[in-house]
Amino acid sequence: MKAQPPASHFIDGAYVEDTAGTVIESLYPATGEVIARLHAATPAIVEQAVASAKRAQKEWAALSPTARGRVLKKAAEIIRERNRELSELETLDTGKPIQETIVADPTSGADAFEFFGGIAATALNGSHIPLGSDWAYTKRVPLGVCVGIGAWNYPQQIACWKGAPALAAGNAMIFKPSEVTPLGALKIAEILIEAGAPKGLYNVIQGDRETGPLLVNHPDVAKVSLTGSVPTGRKVAAAAAGQLKHVTMELGGKSPLIVFDDADLDSAISGAMLGNFYSTGQVCSNGTRVFVHKAIKEQFLARAKARTEAIVIGDPQDEATQMGPLVSFAQREKVLAYTEKGKAEGARLVTGGGIPNTASGEGYFVQPTIFADVTDDMTIAREEIFGPVMCVLDFEDESEVIARANATEFGLAGGVFTADLTRAHRVVDQLEAGTLWINTYNLCPVEIPFGGSKQSGFGRENSAEALSHYSELKTVYVGMGKCEAPY
Ligand code: NAD
Repeated sequence: MKAQPPASHFIDGAYVEDTAGTVIESLYPATGEVIARLHAATPAIVEQAVASAKRAQKEWAALSPTARGRVLKKAAEIIRERNRELSELETLDTGKPIQETIVADPTSGADAFEFFGGIAATALNGSHIPLGSDWAYTKRVPLGVCVGIGAWNYPQQIACWKGAPALAAGNAMIFKPSEVTPLGALKIAEILIEAGAPKGLYNVIQGDRETGPLLVNHPDVAKVSLTGSVPTGRKVAAAAAGQLKHVTMELGGKSPLIVFDDADLDSAISGAMLGNFYSTGQVCSNGTRVFVHKAIKEQFLARAKARTEAIVIGDPQDEATQMGPLVSFAQREKVLAYTEKGKAEGARLVTGGGIPNTASGEGYFVQPTIFADVTDDMTIAREEIFGPVMCVLDFEDESEVIARANATEFGLAGGVFTADLTRAHRVVDQLEAGTLWINTYNLCPVEIPFGGSKQSGFGRENSAEALSHYSELKTVYVGMGKCEAPY
């Protein structure tokens, strides 16, 4: 098999197998071919992973932050050296075109290790608090063993975005990739060992919705960071609350992208296409409700249609391919059901809406799709599709569009395209979301915090802010005189 790893799990610095676990087949989404056969973690594997992480965390936390940072920066260097090989694996794992994975996946993981490796020595300082002759100080301390649970759209990036801040702060991590894309995280675990991390500091175990709870409910796990859907988020948060564990929730969205009539039209169309078609639309922060001012709507649609129909769909391993398949058969069924619903509920199909005939019948391809005349009550305007389906809605008035943009349970992201600087800031100020873009879309460099509000989650990834979600403050009051008591 094309991408079979030596074993399913990576624990304590080595590949480990337990064939008693349920079989997980990894399929290449462009052909449906089985590329690896793995096993979900059994309770014995989970225990092994937790025990080894506990041991490693103590050793790791005792190092200076500079020494920890050095290991993380080394890992970043190795990831960059192997970008091609890791990107090829990511393409097999997800079906995303090599044209994308080579610039967006291992490299953004390397950015995370480089960034957190770089700030470890300076961003974890405590403070000194003068109290007359007494004084106090604070220390930022790690939480212990943290669990990362990933989605299937950015497997390597998620493994790094969770691992890098967790490790920088002095924690160990057990990462469970999505059962749909189990391969990339194993390579990240291997690389960390090569970079000098202690054995057990970053373990990877495989599994699905049955395995996740074994980790979340484990009494030796201090924190869970999930990237996934809102229903899964509710379950994981509820389980974690049972033991008052720390949680970060990176969940789904149905984000608004507002295009005013003074916007640079080509730039706005680029933003809308990036925010709907990149990674075959499987991006949580996508601007899937594109509100376009009535005055420019037809022009917007005509140009967006022409550019969309020129997208090169096909073999993800071909450098010229711009759009690959969806990640799985189930995901394609879901996306096609939504497009049928869009048609049935009266949205105007501008382009796409089915399966492209460029594909040989194999693989989970769909056409990039644009619907116009979408109204707020339509299912395609309310639910997260997670596929390349752009819904264009009309508006005329600024306050009306803000109210409509906010009329959703989600609050992950949003964007505005306008030439009016004042309006841009006024509008984003009123949009209820964790991450907002002005005159661009979906750029998430590691320097800026990323995360959602409302039902899209809480906690932030990336930026120095992420360290506060992987550590806690310890306060020490220092009495300099005699201790007085009233009795
Ligand atoms: P999912 O919710 O089905 O699964 C996510 C992960 O949770 C998987 O690893 C799965 O095995 C695990 N899981 C499922 N049930 C669990 C349980 N009860 N306890 C513990 N773990 C459990 O999501 P998905 O289909 O893999 O990914 C798509 C979703 O992820 C979309 O909604 C998307 O918006 C969201 N997403 C969010 C972000 C973000 O940063 N906000 C990024 C990528 C994807």
